[in-house]
Amino acid sequence: MPDVVRTRIAPSPTGDPHVGTAYVALFNYAMARKHGGQFVLRIEDTDRQRSHPASERMIFEALHWLGLTWDEGPDVGGPHAPYRQSERSEVYRDHARQLVDRGAAYPCFCSRERLDALREEQRLSKGQLGYDGHCRGLDPTVARRRVAAGEEHVIRLKMPTEGSLEVADLLRGAVRFDAAQIDDQVLLKSDGFPTYHLANVVDDHLMGISHVIRAEEWLSSLPKHAQLYRAFGWEQPVFCHLPLLRNADSSKISKRKNPVSLNHYRRAGYLPEAMLNYLALMGWTMPDEREVFTLNEFVANFSLGDIRLGGPVFDLTKLGWLNGRYIRELSAEALLGRLRGDLLSDDYLLKVLPLAHERIDVLEDFIAYAGFFFTGEVAWDDAARTALVAKDRTPAETAKAFRVLLEEHLDPIPEWSAESVEAALRAFCEKAGWTAKQLFMPVRVAVTGRAATPPLFDTMAVLGKEVCRRRVRAAADLLRTMKV
Ligand code: GLU
Repeated sequence: MPDVVRTRIAPSPTGDPHVGTAYVALFNYAMARKHGGQFVLRIEDTDRQRSHPASERMIFEALHWLGLTWDEGPDVGGPHAPYRQSERSEVYRDHARQLVDRGAAYPCFCSRERLDALREEQRLSKGQLGYDGHCRGLDPTVARRRVAAGEEHVIRLKMPTEGSLEVADLLRGAVRFDAAQIDDQVLLKSDGFPTYHLANVVDDHLMGISHVIRAEEWLSSLPKHAQLYRAFGWEQPVFCHLPLLRNADSSKISKRKNPVSLNHYRRAGYLPEAMLNYLALMGWTMPDEREVFTLNEFVANFSLGDIRLGGPVFDLTKLGWLNGRYIRELSAEALLGRLRGDLLSDDYLLKVLPLAHERIDVLEDFIAYAGFFFTGEVAWDDAARTALVAKDRTPAETAKAFRVLLEEHLDPIPEWSAESVEAALRAFCEKAGWTAKQLFMPVRVAVTGRAATPPLFDTMAVLGKEVCRRRVRAAADLLRTMKV
């Protein structure tokens, strides 16, 4: 065990905050707290196209909601600031240069056309895919001159070309990779920005991370990372790849089968402590096999080496059961506090009220009029079912439209608002050749259960992405069962 335990979570702010991020954060948190070390939050926003500040904000909020805290990070600062990779570009450029000077990396001038042609050739001959090392053998003096002359290039890492590479993983022991399968990874892109691999390794080293505990999907990056440590002459941290969370059918957890956004669980009223408790059971068991325990009890009993491989199933029924147990433990006052914390908070009510204000004559009308703002699912009566089907379209066509609308237009919205929802609905119409009228009514009925509602975009904005997504999906499922 290294003298000082420093762990980190390194999310990329490219979407909604994911349960997988909470899972990995929890185990990193436990490791640091158990050993009196520090837990760092680093934002990996090197993918400039996909990174979004709104996503970063949601990650902070979701982790705070769960009750996880970090000792260093973009929001709290710390001795290794900045903790946002987009603010550290010079550090990576400098390190890439060091590797080139040591002969461990090289500039590559291959054009996009050449790489595309190469890929096509490899595909047709069913050969090994990947970069063929064309620029690896360039004379360094010539390469340097071309770089100095401003020729466009990337920097690639020299990987061993034969034999195998062995890297230790805490849970798997020595993992062996065939060198021939791994090509020379791009470290620095032609725009001077780093790839994940370079930025991740440089930061883990500079930030003194002792244990890299992350999701199994990064295991395939391990040989590249190990090679980077070797090339820099740095000591490697302990690597520990956590098992992937799975759907009940053992596929990798995905939003098609399970809600994966922490925002969903928060809005649906899962209690953060139940969620953490449930995540702690993913691949790990209390020494006395107790299933219900607090975060502090988890930390006190935690041991990284006890994690079992084999995909733990993220089972909504069991999570629901556990949450129910936590709810029943609360006093009525505490339960009221929870309701007032989110679903019945002044904040939320003040968003709903303007949408109902004009339409109620006595206060008791409010619940009947605005009830759908407070439920999870909505029920569609016969009239609503009819209105769910788009004019001049079949139920199956409407169901398909809902799916495309969700996946291509609503899901990718980084900042959910009346404006962004409207733009997404109109973009769908444009692309699919639907009229606004044809789409808006079925969507209105899908998200509210009714044909007469407050203005659609404002309503969807207040309901939030998660609720709208859930209801549109449920409506599509219903439409699929409907006869023409
Ligand atoms: N940015 C990566 C992610 O989003 C971090 C992977 C790692 O922990 O090394 O998961």
